[in-house]
Amino acid sequence: MTDPLNHSYYAATAHKRQPQRDIEGDLQCDVAVIGGGFTGLGAALACAERGFSVILFEAEHVGFGASGRNGGQLIPGLRWTASEIEREFGRERAGALFDLCWRDNRVKNRIARHGIDCDLKAGHLEAAWTPKDFDDMRREADYLANRFDYRTEIVAKGEMSRHIASPLYHGGIHDPQGGHFHPLNYAIGLAQAAETAGVRIVEGRRASLDTAKARYVIDATDSWIGDVEPALGRYTVPIMNYNIATAPLANADELLPTDAAVADSRFVLNYFRLSADKRLIFGGGERYSQTPPRDIAAFVRPFMAEVFPQIADAKIDYGWGGAVAVTMNRLPHIGRRGNIFFAHGFSGHGALVTTLAGELIAEAMAETAERFDILANLPSKPFPGGKWLRRPLATLGLLWYALRDRLG
Ligand SMILES: Cc1cc2nc3c(=O)[nH]c(=O)nc-3n(C[C@H](O)[C@H](O)[C@H](O)COP(=O)(O)OP(=O)(O)OC[C@H]3O[C@@H](n4cnc5c(N)ncnc54)[C@H](O)[C@@H]3O)c2cc1C
Repeated sequence: MTDPLNHSYYAATAHKRQPQRDIEGDLQCDVAVIGGGFTGLGAALACAERGFSVILFEAEHVGFGASGRNGGQLIPGLRWTASEIEREFGRERAGALFDLCWRDNRVKNRIARHGIDCDLKAGHLEAAWTPKDFDDMRREADYLANRFDYRTEIVAKGEMSRHIASPLYHGGIHDPQGGHFHPLNYAIGLAQAAETAGVRIVEGRRASLDTAKARYVIDATDSWIGDVEPALGRYTVPIMNYNIATAPLANADELLPTDAAVADSRFVLNYFRLSADKRLIFGGGERYSQTPPRDIAAFVRPFMAEVFPQIADAKIDYGWGGAVAVTMNRLPHIGRRGNIFFAHGFSGHGALVTTLAGELIAEAMAETAERFDILANLPSKPFPGGKWLRRPLATLGLLWYALRDRLG
């Protein structure tokens, strides 16, 4: 299928991969994985490493979904701050979640172990949209240092030019443990590692829960989960989000001198970073309608121009979009129903945690569910409304927050 939303820098610079359209023999295996994004690939690889026979079905091609189109920002943690998590869940659970979601960087491990060539860079900056956001960041940095001995750097407004040439922000928090990468090449690298470990990957094949004869099924279809299991589809709504990549910029290193990835603290956030060939990759604006803007570059450019007026007229070579599966409380929905494991709804914060979730599913199958349960026990509620009302109701709520952003 040609996808008009996939005119992406990532697709244009993807490493070559020889997809397998079908597999020999029957579809008997220990584990059937549905979905070839970070979650499914991470789970499939980890299951094969533990000795399971695995078949992964991907409806289109590896990295077709959010995993091959995202901003490439590697942001330790979840959508909630660590202190919010401790306030809600108590000290012990917060500590366990922190060890997994902040400290345990499985993406870095995979890249190193398999030599995945995906332009990995260190450093993530969250930029404060308002003075109050900056005060919150300062408090969070102190909390992270005192409670977890986790070091970040608070950047005062007057020092922001060390990281970013934009007059907009009131300070920020720089996390050297974060970073950025080329997400599609990471997905392709994971797929190659999985095949080397024995996983049979079938691309171009839409699967259902009983396509294979398997002991376990892993549903890793994220935004499409409702098509596979309608009951799980109630836990997320897809929000469309758009990215652009400029032509390579002569002044790229002046825009982002430390080459950190940046996300700001607006509710409908701007997020951006440099590619390996010095383009600015910029994500901004959300659409609550599923219909893409006719001209993605024209839709995203004003957000970029607001952050970086000096490149307001830069040539834009690529524009693309994808669906972010968002849960009601912005925490991922992960769990098990009988012999079916699932993980979805990473709410725009999945580049790091998806690989972890996939690996913990494999750990739960092979030995102990202790660490899987830490993630699986996060609270989650379905969105109100049936299949047709769910999206409009969620949209109303999101529009309200977006409006608050604009009113400052
Ligand atoms: C535009 C955008 C920007 C983002 N930016 C960031 C960011 O900078 N940092 C961050 O941390 N997160 C970001 N995210 C979120 C992140 O990309 C996701 O959380 C993550 O990629 C989800 O991975 P996944 O494997 O669970 O799902 P996906 O990557 O969506 O994979 C699901 C796969 O399942 C396949 N599939 C669906 N149905 C079937 C079926 N029946 N049979 C077989 N296959 C099927 C699909 O084709 C798809 O390839 C962004 C998301 C988007 C869309």
